[in-house]
Amino acid sequence: MFCANCGTPASDDAPFCWQCGHRIAVQSKRLIQILSQKIRTQAVLLTITACVQSLLALFLFCLALFFAGSAKLNIAASYFCIVVLLAVGAFANFAYASHLFMRSGQILLRPIGIISEYQPTGTLINLLAFNLLLGCLLGPIGMIYGFGVRRYVIAHIHEFDALERQSPPTS
Ligand SMILES: [Zn+2]
Repeated sequence: MFCANCGTPASDDAPFCWQCGHRIAVQSKRLIQILSQKIRTQAVLLTITACVQSLLALFLFCLALFFAGSAKLNIAASYFCIVVLLAVGAFANFAYASHLFMRSGQILLRPIGIISEYQPTGTLINLLAFNLLLGCLLGPIGMIYGFGVRRYVIAHIHEFDALERQSPPTS
């Protein structure tokens, strides 16, 4: 176990680092709990988004059927296109939300892979662009919240790094 502040090796039960006086166990535990809560909040936001997208898709699907029924095929076709986009967006958001729900529990047990997941911005930017394209209103909110989660990880990167190093390797 290492001090999250200065990296000095510390014994597991020491509440403070003997070198710099940094609080160790409590700090790390709270750090992970806060991150877990943030990830869970984002997962909830994404689930709500996905539900709204699904309902909207269903509504537009009915409209498309209505226009198809009254022989306005051009309008029906464009509604069908939006339905497909929304359905893909909803599916992606459900999938990402379930990943985040899983991660929020997982990091409490073993805090690894946090930095490698949040340090690169590529994934977040792709998901944001994807949501701007397909999501309706709430979609970008869920992803912008993801940037907030990332900012939290980056702000405490040394603490998370220390936590990941002291965790047992993946089985
Ligand atoms: Zn220290």
